[in-house]
Amino acid sequence: MTVSTDVTRDDVLQTLRAHVTTHVALPGEPGYERCVPWNVAAQVAPAAVVLATSPEDVAGTVRFAAAHGFTVTVQATGHGAVGVGPGTILVQTSAMKHCAVDVANRTARVEAGARWQDVLDAATPHGLAPLCGSAPSVGVVGFLTGGGIGPLVRTVGASSDHVRGFEVVTGEGRLLQATPECNADLFWGLRGGKATLGIVTSVEIDLLPIAEFYGGAVYFAGDDAAAVLHAWAGWCAGLPETVNTSIAIQQLPPMPGVPEPLAGRMTVAVRYTAVGDLAEGERLLAPLRAVATPLLDTTAVMPYAAIGAVHADPVDPMPVSENQALLSALPSEAVDALLAVAGPGSGSPQAIVELRMLGGALAREPRHRSAFCRRDAAFSLLTIGVPAPEIAAMVVGHAAAVVGSVEPWSTGGQMPNFAPSYDPARPSRVYSEDTLHWLAALADRYDPAGVLATGQVIRTLR
Ligand SMILES: Cc1cc2nc3c(=O)[nH]c(=O)nc-3n(C[C@H](O)[C@H](O)[C@H](O)COP(=O)(O)OP(=O)(O)OC[C@H]3O[C@@H](n4cnc5c(N)ncnc54)[C@H](O)[C@@H]3O)c2cc1C
Repeated sequence: MTVSTDVTRDDVLQTLRAHVTTHVALPGEPGYERCVPWNVAAQVAPAAVVLATSPEDVAGTVRFAAAHGFTVTVQATGHGAVGVGPGTILVQTSAMKHCAVDVANRTARVEAGARWQDVLDAATPHGLAPLCGSAPSVGVVGFLTGGGIGPLVRTVGASSDHVRGFEVVTGEGRLLQATPECNADLFWGLRGGKATLGIVTSVEIDLLPIAEFYGGAVYFAGDDAAAVLHAWAGWCAGLPETVNTSIAIQQLPPMPGVPEPLAGRMTVAVRYTAVGDLAEGERLLAPLRAVATPLLDTTAVMPYAAIGAVHADPVDPMPVSENQALLSALPSEAVDALLAVAGPGSGSPQAIVELRMLGGALAREPRHRSAFCRRDAAFSLLTIGVPAPEIAAMVVGHAAAVVGSVEPWSTGGQMPNFAPSYDPARPSRVYSEDTLHWLAALADRYDPAGVLATGQVIRTLR
């Protein structure tokens, strides 16, 4: 009985090839392995992988899935991967990575599978800056649908505030434009909603005239963590919006790309960017740099093309597990609480425990409002662990303890790009009640049959 059902299902999936003009791979077939995500901790085993090359491939897949009882999910790089099971067809967009820069209008039209590196390569030779995140290897669309908190966030706001429009395939398989003038509700929801509103096939974004910045990272020994973290928390209070900074307690393994002084031990990284008056940017960093003797200092005037060097995030696929808290303040007591659970001698298993300074332009509503909430936090606390199978539960439990250690200063909110997908409370932590209501209504409107399963699903129907 089971065998006959499986054969029927496979036969049905074979007919998917007639609905698209690109390669379709079923389990075991060449190309299926392209669904393995960057975050290899996520279990991604779809019914089929469609290596999309056009919006028509995406629309054809959605219509096929609707007709045959499958759901559809989308993946560009797998940096934000969540589990995918055998009832779902995965649209892999990584072949759709064209990026067209309009130098005169300072915009770029970017296809769904592009990484920020593709946009940096196309825009920075013109002195124009795309508002990427810390890692240029992250996908543009996944980042933007989650709001997008980049290394210039206090200066420019959320990166999704700089989106001009999307081209998107809805759950009914229709290709629509979403701009402030056209399907404005979808335009609102796709910027931060990161929900089941459609599969974006391209996005148009602003490019800013930023050719260079002063910045990089100053690394200190773990033994200096208390002095550096306390000094950082106080120093942040006087920084202008042209300056952005984060601080990370790091425990990086010896591996290619990790400089020797930072490998195999606890260190503290102060990340820094300043735009505008770069000499002033250098001057503002001086007091923090003098708190202890740096192990390594990469700060300099850099071309914007080198923005990824500030955080120096890992490039190769690996298992990661994240947790986040947003903080309204970072008093001395909060720093002590954090050091006790994640500092020297704490036994912390986390690879990175990071505080990012927020505020500035992020706190202001953009010209066109969006579904991105939680603009009012002063700091983001993020844990990044490597959940090898034998320690996975411990890493996740400890991350919760880190987040819990600063509970008195927590706003209770989280951001869509950093909230852990395993947490059932995620939607209410990430969105206000009103926003959740509108996102659900939009999902019901643009995907009435519930075909799309892109990341978190917020809907009222079914
Ligand atoms: C090393 C690293 C550094 C990071 N740094 C930052 C940072 O500085 N700031 C920040 O805000 N975030 C950051 N993130 C989080 C990152 O922005 C999210 O994980 C994002 O979702 C990754 O997008 P992706 O396309 O690369 O990943 P994918 O796993 O391919 O996609 C993740 C999700 O994005 C959505 N998505 C992707 N493509 C589409 C599409 N075509 N249409 C509709 N939805 C789509 C879906 O919900 C999908 O499940 C970082 C993550 C990592 C691993």
